[in-house]
Amino acid sequence: MCGIIGYIGKREAAPLLLNGLKRLEYRGYDSAGMAVLNGQMQVLKQKGSVGNLEELLNVSGTVMLGATMGIAHTRWATHGDPSDRNAHPHMNISSDIALIHNGIIENYSSLKKELLSQGYEFESDTDSEVLVHLIDRVWKADPSIGLEGAVRQALRHVDGAYGICVVSSREPDKIVVARKGSPLVIGLGDGEFFIASDAAPIVEHTNKVVYLLDGEMAVVTRDNYTVKTIENVEQQKRVTELDFSLEKIEKGGYEHFMLKEIFEQPEVMRDVMRGRIRVEEGRVQLGGIEDYLDRLKQAKRIVICACGTSWHAGLIGEYLIEEFARIPVEVDYASEFRYRNPIVTSDDVVIVISQSGETADTLAALRLAKEKGALVMGICNVVGSTIARETLCGMYTHAGPEVGVASTKAFTAQVIVLFMLAMALSKGRTISQEEIKLNLRELAEVPEKVARILEQNDAIREIALKLKDARNALYLGRGYNFPVALEGALKLKEISYIHAEGYPAAEMKHGPIALIDEDMPVIVIATRDNTYAKILSNIEEVRSRKGRVIAIASEGDRDIEQLTPDVIFIPQASAALLPLLTVIPLQLLSYHVATMRGCNVDRPRNLAKSVTVE
Ligand code: GLU
Repeated sequence: MCGIIGYIGKREAAPLLLNGLKRLEYRGYDSAGMAVLNGQMQVLKQKGSVGNLEELLNVSGTVMLGATMGIAHTRWATHGDPSDRNAHPHMNISSDIALIHNGIIENYSSLKKELLSQGYEFESDTDSEVLVHLIDRVWKADPSIGLEGAVRQALRHVDGAYGICVVSSREPDKIVVARKGSPLVIGLGDGEFFIASDAAPIVEHTNKVVYLLDGEMAVVTRDNYTVKTIENVEQQKRVTELDFSLEKIEKGGYEHFMLKEIFEQPEVMRDVMRGRIRVEEGRVQLGGIEDYLDRLKQAKRIVICACGTSWHAGLIGEYLIEEFARIPVEVDYASEFRYRNPIVTSDDVVIVISQSGETADTLAALRLAKEKGALVMGICNVVGSTIARETLCGMYTHAGPEVGVASTKAFTAQVIVLFMLAMALSKGRTISQEEIKLNLRELAEVPEKVARILEQNDAIREIALKLKDARNALYLGRGYNFPVALEGALKLKEISYIHAEGYPAAEMKHGPIALIDEDMPVIVIATRDNTYAKILSNIEEVRSRKGRVIAIASEGDRDIEQLTPDVIFIPQASAALLPLLTVIPLQLLSYHVATMRGCNVDRPRNLAKSVTVE
């Protein structure tokens, strides 16, 4: 998920690696570290900014002098708090192998148990560390396989996503790298090579790069590089010439971080589910709440507290948990909850949701709920954040760093977490094992469906043209799509500064209908679910008052085209999973409207990414 840079050549490695890490800073991270080889393995790593690592290097960097190869990492924690010992690189017991890793090792806990029983000792709480001990184990078992063979064999035991770089003082003139899920690129210089998680730290040295594909490994020496599959089949690679600006590379080739983050969603969704669901077995394994699952299932009531976009995810959570787990749920704005002397008892469970895990009002709600004796569970994106530390149990969303101020991928990640939670709470109680399997199978298909919606980006941009000069907009949805209407309206407000309101469609008659005329665009989420017929009537009501309708509808719906020319079709899915699909075109619509209006989408006026004041 975060940054990797490696170097092998003739120049001093440490300052080059440090500079590379600075180029990767835009990705957001919580710690940084590097390993170089100058006869011996030298490792420096530290929690905090690359600046902290630089200071450490200024103080004790002389040990690194003379090294002309090495690897470095910025970490965005997924397993284990941000801390010095959890920072990468990780080393084997004899400190002659060092490894950096981006991604998540799904089966790390069973691998760790096995390694512990074989006498391996762990220095960190990360999933990544199991990899270095595995490499050590297979290499010891057969010294003839060398570093490359050891990495190859170790990876056979691993499920999950990784981009890794490995070096060893036993074979000091090579870097072995491998990719599955997390990107890696090799930069080809003059008598030197670079390895990185994206081209940002490479472009200032060379514009010739080779992109590794999933399932590929490379061995990079001072004079050469070879690429093979993990199964050991040699690959012919094409050299690509970069003609991007640094800024563009940082944004993954996209115009803005927000657009990049919208497009990342299929991958992020897979990360959120990684290691947590087993579709064929109908299993949901949520490590962070395992020990409290019985108490959670026995809750008399669940109260969800959050702010902004997370509050919308909370509303979807209410629908999910009530439908499947049959536990009463209330959703409260954290800011209201904390000041209204709420009734909370030890029979209640309070779930707090926050992307940053630092939202001031949500944190205050958490503390109040704890004081009143409730079991508090957290859902946040930033590992080791205050909310994560102060809750007894919880789940990380694993959406990776979100830079755009208007939340997109963190929202869909929260909804997936809540869906998995609803399944875990229902299991063995309210729905059959067959239904769980069916629901998980459908959940696993969501990323692919989201990718199909993203392919319609150009058509959605065309529709945005019709919205761009509006002064107001109304968003309508029913059932699971009601919170999506709220979220769609919030996205438009936040980044395009068009006044927008979301409503449950049936509420239109109780007020907003008075606003409808030919200048009022109405975005209606009209997917085929149990409220479809009702929402068609709402569309008719808007049309008969000359309102302009933009509809989000299910693929294959011919009727809706009779009602409006502006329809965005999304794949079919059961109602409970629709929010994950219907929100995507709304994110894109807001994005395009905002850019057409010349707004700063990544940093909208007056807004902050992490709201740490009440
Ligand atoms: N899962 C690893 C960890 O928590 C790597 C995270 C990353 O991609 O930075 O340390």
